[in-house]
Amino acid sequence: MDLKDLYQDVIVDHNRSPRNFRRIADASRTLEGFNPLCGDKLTLYLKLDGDRISDLSFEGSGCAISVASASLMTERVKGKTVREAEHLFDRMHDLLTRDNVNADLEPLGKLAVLSGVREYPSRVKCATLCWHTLKNVLEHPGNPPVSTE
Ligand code: ZN
Repeated sequence: MDLKDLYQDVIVDHNRSPRNFRRIADASRTLEGFNPLCGDKLTLYLKLDGDRISDLSFEGSGCAISVASASLMTERVKGKTVREAEHLFDRMHDLLTRDNVNADLEPLGKLAVLSGVREYPSRVKCATLCWHTLKNVLEHPGNPPVSTE
């Protein structure tokens, strides 16, 4: 199975049944993100236990790519430290925005399938929205909502 088929499968699966799609009532931090180009909206809920992200979830509505990307992100980032999450942001940002087809995808695991989105430049912001929202909520708690514009 090549990356392109896998891309379709993973997007469809995570859009149909998004992981961690819920509100965290006692979240340490929450932040909204908006991608006006497509109309994707999400609210990220994050629970911190010291330096560790003990829980991460989201709610919202958007296209399949935005929902699947947020679902994959919460699945992957939950349980990581803030530093590890920021490192993943950098890797994902490179993966989605740079033409680095020879990059080592191995450490990204399932997240690597999102590289398929580079074939549709207008959808890149759909995939990066949740990551930008995460980075913002980690670095600047209390910020206004994130917009990809
Ligand atoms: Zn979208």
